[in-house]
Amino acid sequence: MTLSVQTVAVIGSGIMGAGIAEVAASQGHPVLVYDIDAGAIARAIEGIRSRLASRVARGKLSAEASEKTLSRLTPVTDIQALAAADLVIEAASERMEVKKALFAQLAEICPPQTLLTSNTSSISITAIAAGVLHPERVAGLHFFNPAPVMKLVEVVSGLATSNEVVEQLCDLAIRWGKQPVRCQSTPGFIVNRVARPYYAEAWRALEEQVAAPQDLDAALREGAGFPMGPLELTDMIGQDVNFAVTCSVFNAFWQERRFLPSLMQQELVLGGRLGKKSGQGVYNWRSDKPTVGWYEAVSDGDSAGYSEKRSDGVTKIDDLLLIDTQGETAQALAARYACPVVVIDRLEGDVAVIASADSNPDSATRKAVHYLQQRGKRVLQVADYPGLIIWRTLAMIINEALDALQKGVAREEDIDTAMRLGVNYPRGPLAWGEQLGWQRVLILLENLQRHYGEERYRPSSLLRQRALLESSYES
Ligand code: NAD
Repeated sequence: MTLSVQTVAVIGSGIMGAGIAEVAASQGHPVLVYDIDAGAIARAIEGIRSRLASRVARGKLSAEASEKTLSRLTPVTDIQALAAADLVIEAASERMEVKKALFAQLAEICPPQTLLTSNTSSISITAIAAGVLHPERVAGLHFFNPAPVMKLVEVVSGLATSNEVVEQLCDLAIRWGKQPVRCQSTPGFIVNRVARPYYAEAWRALEEQVAAPQDLDAALREGAGFPMGPLELTDMIGQDVNFAVTCSVFNAFWQERRFLPSLMQQELVLGGRLGKKSGQGVYNWRSDKPTVGWYEAVSDGDSAGYSEKRSDGVTKIDDLLLIDTQGETAQALAARYACPVVVIDRLEGDVAVIASADSNPDSATRKAVHYLQQRGKRVLQVADYPGLIIWRTLAMIINEALDALQKGVAREEDIDTAMRLGVNYPRGPLAWGEQLGWQRVLILLENLQRHYGEERYRPSSLLRQRALLESSYES
């Protein structure tokens, strides 16, 4: 096996290949930049030159360092030249037959100790390595876009990948200033799998006409601390790209219902509404964003006369119950308790999403909004929907993270790191689950599953185990 990586070869000079070549060259490696399209190589090197120049102009990089980085890039149009590489990173088109053909060729061109890696987002590393000479040196090295900026690298093992190779790649990623996480070759690896519910639940809420897109986005951005709401994020990623990843994960899991793609998103793709890049997606990017429907300040003449009682997750104001969501609708609770009910969806911040039972008198919602505003909350009302927005989305992400953990996709800390650094989640989903309480997450999902009668909301068996441990620890 190679002891140290000197020369790096990057195959494919598109968005990812150019970014990865820039990372390797700026870390001092001679880099061979190869593509079947010579024009793509020239564009990639030109792109790196202009990115470095802008860093020099902003005083972030010295002109000398920029020159040195550029001098380390060698355009290559004959794949045989890759024989000189100690590490190959393939970032060619996302097609199985392209990757398999490339790796079979590389295995013959490169000496047995050359590390052969793929930046694939969705293709099995086991499949890429199958039939390749010395498959133990084949691994996934999954960078995130833009590669020079994003710190996360998923180091992916196929069935044949040796531990030694994985450790070597992790060490190298650290030397490049990246944060590696180890994972097994399974559909979506860590990030593209655990992030699916973030989008899926937003599409579902939109399809069930629960709230306007800007309200759904604001609930998760401002109420849970995600850097972007799920719908605006799909507009940034590109509806076509996001939809293709969802379809790929869905099919790779044998049409598992949890990953069911959205018809509404498909409709956007078919209509060419691809998001920011086409000017229109969920939002119209040529005009101002629609305003979020925060409640104006509500005055309530009766407030002085409230009689208020609070217990765990339930506040009683006169005959109105304010109940923190546990996955049941306000109407189901109003029928059970035979009184007006407003359900609240909130974390510790200043945002409260509410839903009011249809049978409530108008004054009940006003009273609830007034009560919350008096306590410094910004209030958004959505339709009466089980689990509402924040808790429902988090419960589904936590459930998926537990499923990945239970199936040995990656270690607990690596799953959390991957979600924080790969998609900038404010917390890792497993640490979040621990903080929110496994039992509450479990109850919420059981209620959703009962409400819909759908396998999609089934709690993972690891969630059940953790909830049991939590309750025996508490009792
Ligand atoms: P891209 O379309 O921008 O670039 C692909 C390049 O590969 C093109 O220049 C093409 O000419 C070249 N190519 C195609 N077949 C080739 C071959 N046989 N030999 C050499 N070059 C060949 O694609 P991209 O977005 O940079 O994605 C590249 C890889 O990285 C894919 O596997 C993709 O799944 C993965 N990836 C993409 C992203 C992203 O956000 N774009 C993120 C992570 C991983």
